[in-house]
Amino acid sequence: MSLTLLADLHTHSVASGHAFSTVTEIAEAASAAGLELVAITDHGPAAPGGAHAWYFWNVRSVPVHIESVVVLMGCEANVSASSEGLDLPAEVLAGLDLVAVGFHPLTGFDDGDRAANTAALLRAMRNPLVDVVTHPGSADFPLEVETIAAAAAEFGVVLELNDHSFDPHSSRARSIDREVAFAQAARDAGGLISIGSDAHYHTGVGSFSHALEAVESLGFPPDRILNRDAASVLAHLRGRRPRPRLEALDEIG
Ligand SMILES: [Zn+2]
Ligand SMILES: [Zn+2]
Repeated sequence: MSLTLLADLHTHSVASGHAFSTVTEIAEAASAAGLELVAITDHGPAAPGGAHAWYFWNVRSVPVHIESVVVLMGCEANVSASSEGLDLPAEVLAGLDLVAVGFHPLTGFDDGDRAANTAALLRAMRNPLVDVVTHPGSADFPLEVETIAAAAAEFGVVLELNDHSFDPHSSRARSIDREVAFAQAARDAGGLISIGSDAHYHTGVGSFSHALEAVESLGFPPDRILNRDAASVLAHLRGRRPRPRLEALDEIG
């Protein structure tokens, strides 16, 4: 199997507070890399420097097409002890094209309590507005792998394999085995995965090679890799709930 992935569902713009490219630069880089679709998933407000809820309110200001790519405006929310399980309110999340959620440092989960982390993530995953869990294998935030993979398959939530974790300079470099274990568990549970670049600078958009190699070695079914192309992504997202910003895209999805 030699798979080409045409959508990147995990990138950060300057609005994340520790990333360095604009939405336009990210879209141009995605276009140059031959992608059909890119999602901007800036950090939610609980992450130090993360974007304010007002930023996410206003995503309709961004064109759906830039260069030759479809640009989704989403978020990478933080798992939260709030009743909704995320650090953005439901009325904001409902206006986004893609809702990803993950654990990040300094957001209330640094004590590494596996049971508490699992319970908090399950609460977030039960929120029907959640589409993707980012880097679930992060070593700093241990989780019960089988429990999360089963819930993800049940709820139709996508588990990400994060290509950036394979970078030896990444803060998650020691998480690789666990990240792959989640992909394996998703395979066995019948769930979906996506492979995200997690680019914090636009030259990293569409970087999938390390994660893709791992997925191929697992024999992961290609039709359950969500980000294989724009049509797959859009059909899946719209099948879960309306995406108000994407209403003009009927010819694609
Ligand atoms: Zn993240
Ligand atoms: Zn990220």
